[in-house]
Amino acid sequence: MLCVRFFVAMPYLFYLWDLLSSCRKICLLTLILPLACSAQSYDFLLKGGHLIDAKNGLNGNFDIAIQGDRIAAVARSIPKSKAKKVVDATDLYVTPGLIDLHAHLFWGTSEDAYLADSYSSLPPDGFTLQYGVTTAVDAGGAGWRNFEQFKRQTIDKSQTRVKAFLNIVGSGMRGDPDEQDLNDMNPKLAAMIVYQYPEYIVGIKLAHFKGPDWTPVHRAVEAGQWAKIPVMVDFGRAQPTLSIERLFLKELNPGDIFTHCFANALGRESIVDESGTLKPFVTEAIDRGIIMDVGHGGGSFRWNVAAPALKQGMRPQTISTDLHSGSMNKGMKNQLNVMSKLLNLGMSLEEVIEASTWKPAQVVGIDKELGHLSVGALADIAVLRRKEGKFGFIDVAGTRLDGEYKLECELTVLGGEVVWDHNGLASPAWDEVDIPPSPGRPEVQHFIDPPQ
Ligand SMILES: [Zn+2]
Repeated sequence: MLCVRFFVAMPYLFYLWDLLSSCRKICLLTLILPLACSAQSYDFLLKGGHLIDAKNGLNGNFDIAIQGDRIAAVARSIPKSKAKKVVDATDLYVTPGLIDLHAHLFWGTSEDAYLADSYSSLPPDGFTLQYGVTTAVDAGGAGWRNFEQFKRQTIDKSQTRVKAFLNIVGSGMRGDPDEQDLNDMNPKLAAMIVYQYPEYIVGIKLAHFKGPDWTPVHRAVEAGQWAKIPVMVDFGRAQPTLSIERLFLKELNPGDIFTHCFANALGRESIVDESGTLKPFVTEAIDRGIIMDVGHGGGSFRWNVAAPALKQGMRPQTISTDLHSGSMNKGMKNQLNVMSKLLNLGMSLEEVIEASTWKPAQVVGIDKELGHLSVGALADIAVLRRKEGKFGFIDVAGTRLDGEYKLECELTVLGGEVVWDHNGLASPAWDEVDIPPSPGRPEVQHFIDPPQ
């Protein structure tokens, strides 16, 4: 309203300004400029929320101000008068925008493909922003042969920040027999594509290999070393099963990622034994720097692995969905649901936030501008509500855990823009704004007159 009045008055102000002498103009500027600089320095202020930012060790009540696409200030109290827009975040948690480290986003229309240019991969914006996820990493949908197609179809067309693990298989996750083709696993060609697209490709992926053979692991690790990025392993479907102890302690390098860490599936060794005891080398692997990633998916999260592992002190360093059409409507659902499961298994809220923000940002080297709320960082923010009540959570075997906490997303900010506002927190009440029904536009013509 003030803005509208200002623009209406502008011609008169210019006229009056012209009437002043140079000396008076200088005096007036000396008086006005400091006032103008102190008033409304920020575009947007989130006030009164409980801020959790692992990088900066913040866990308490802080206000956070945004200017343009960056975080401009974080302080115990920032005056409302400093911002053009103020959002009341009382009783809510304010965190960095969530980062989903394992999703399948190479959507397309190839009828015979599994997760590359396929119907089972999903366009990110429908499955990320409403759950506080501002960055999602495609986990190997594309390889060096079809990465550019993935960029055109998904990265360039999405509001969500999309990154990628490049599959060591040249044609990515087209399914079998393509994903079993050792001849298409070329570390140097993979590394060349990484060097062409360093802004988007953050790791190498190996998945779904069924042979009792370490060659694919060697090729993926070699590509990771050429490109100086980590390797994520979905290990595997081999018969007989290959040893995860060897994978963790001898084959992978510190910083590499073991996804599906709470799986208990045929052809994939579990991190707990039959009595539920955490295998001792798992702790050794974590100490060595191997990253345990959740990668829930449609077949890789069992209560009978996750519950005993967490009870014995194990913590996944990163929480991710393994989003695709086979997981979104089952036990996985979305990033916040997976975080809620771990919250109800005994991880603290600070731990699940860190494992969905700061830690994944570090793991894939996007931590300069993402995963934290430092002044100057990109303004990607999730505003979450922790509900308390009676909730049920399902694993991939279809069994239920009763829990008392559930996370929901009230507001998502991406690069300083509100991209999800569940209950209109950042929107003015309709009867308190003075705008015409059609704001400056002619009525939309809905019907075409029939020809005479
Ligand atoms: Zn996956």
